[in-house]
Amino acid sequence: MPVIRGRIPAFPNSVPVIVVGAGAAGAVAALAARDKGAKVMVLDRDASPTGATALSSGMIPAAGSPAQRAREIEDSPELFAADIQAKSNGRSAAHLVDAYTRASVATLEWLEKAAGIRFELVDGVPPGHGAARMHALAERGGSALLSSLYKALAAGGVRVQSAARVTDLYLDDDGRVRGVRYERNGRELLDVGCSALLVATNGFAGNRDLVAQYLPDVRGLPFAGHDSSQGDAMSWAGDLDAAIEDADGFLAHSSVVMPDRLQLPWALMTEGAIQVNSDGERFGNEHEGYSESALFVLAQPEGLAFNIYDERVHEVGLTMPNYPEAVSKGLIKRAATLPELANALGIDREGLEQSVALANAFAFEDAVDDFGRQFHASQMLLAPYYGVQVTGALLGTEGGLAIDADGRVLRKDGAPLPNLLAAGGAARGISGDAGGGYLEGNGLLAAVVGGCLAGRKAAELAY
Ligand SMILES: Cc1cc2nc3c(=O)[nH]c(=O)nc-3n(C[C@H](O)[C@H](O)[C@H](O)COP(=O)(O)OP(=O)(O)OC[C@H]3O[C@@H](n4cnc5c(N)ncnc54)[C@H](O)[C@@H]3O)c2cc1C
Repeated sequence: MPVIRGRIPAFPNSVPVIVVGAGAAGAVAALAARDKGAKVMVLDRDASPTGATALSSGMIPAAGSPAQRAREIEDSPELFAADIQAKSNGRSAAHLVDAYTRASVATLEWLEKAAGIRFELVDGVPPGHGAARMHALAERGGSALLSSLYKALAAGGVRVQSAARVTDLYLDDDGRVRGVRYERNGRELLDVGCSALLVATNGFAGNRDLVAQYLPDVRGLPFAGHDSSQGDAMSWAGDLDAAIEDADGFLAHSSVVMPDRLQLPWALMTEGAIQVNSDGERFGNEHEGYSESALFVLAQPEGLAFNIYDERVHEVGLTMPNYPEAVSKGLIKRAATLPELANALGIDREGLEQSVALANAFAFEDAVDDFGRQFHASQMLLAPYYGVQVTGALLGTEGGLAIDADGRVLRKDGAPLPNLLAAGGAARGISGDAGGGYLEGNGLLAAVVGGCLAGRKAAELAY
């Protein structure tokens, strides 16, 4: 993935703004640049682009929205920013956290006005958030969000060229991107010129070599994200003299069924499930956070864990994404007794019985256990029992190209490159430099709000 410096071809076609990647970040950025009057072309490597966005919940956090006010929910960008920083121990990039939280409501309102995409407030306060502030389409889900964005792009006359993988960037001697080369349908190589380039190619979680280089501690985790996350932006960074920040940050999940790549709802844990290893023993506080907990699972025999719960928790699961699919695939085991469940899951019977008895004893007393988990009497586990084999898995990376609050890519000396922007997972995120820094919604907040800010700036820099 080279950056070609100084040898600028005579481009047969030019577009003021090129956006590379048609996930949430690229699609929103393209809409924002178009809305500011720039002509835009979007290039995506996949024949039917979906990206990680389509695998997500499609829920975007925003603080201080009219929907929140209508339900008398007190919230503000400051409270939201404090929650993001609390999760990462104050290690999230402050300029991005502040910019994204402040622009969160205005971005959703602009998407409604400019693109006809209507968001509603989702019930419930996700762990680590101080208020109900997730906003989503009525249909829910990342695919629905992406389809709405594509409809708006088509209506705005923005062309999304699929099966178009950008391989090379053309840079002049002043460090200005003059165009890109892309591979169409895996064969033909085409050049197209631009006056501003916006990279929205997501992170590098799907690239084992880059994961081993930047995230050695998590390289043992299987990958359950989108295969197009190959870290092309990271490969370009060196030749661009661009800085990379927070490369140690990642998004993982501790309840993924492999090889199906089925991420089970975290609500199973918060509603009372426990997680044990093949000896039937608990090994941590299941409420700690799904990203960092993935590493606890990795440390268990064969990297496996088993979520154990009961009918009440199962019923909650049935209302959540992915769980019904796990049920229909026969992945969820049900048994009248714990020995039968242990047998169905292939784990130690006595260990399981002891763990459930101990968890119920803590629950009976509303007590906190040695791992720091608060148990509740209303969440005692009762027959019939349910269980599922899971593992920890890597979903995404949180580090990337250093950017300013407008999405301009920064050089190692801190100065912005003249006409290069980045948004979403290709850029530095807002989760700091460790897996424990990821607060639910950070990914889509950066993609949608960061995409909007960067798209507007790209239009301004284009001519
Ligand atoms: C299973 C899963 C669940 C998640 N759940 C949530 C959630 O509930 N909430 C949340 O906030 N975040 C969630 N995330 C994270 C969130 O999905 C991402 O942070 C966000 O979607 C990133 O958007 P993006 O546009 O940067 O990347 P993507 O949506 O991945 O889009 C990148 C696009 O770039 C294209 N591309 C890559 N390289 C090239 C190239 N060289 N040339 C052309 N095109 C290229 C790809 O084909 C892809 O379409 C989840 C992630 C996963 C994997």
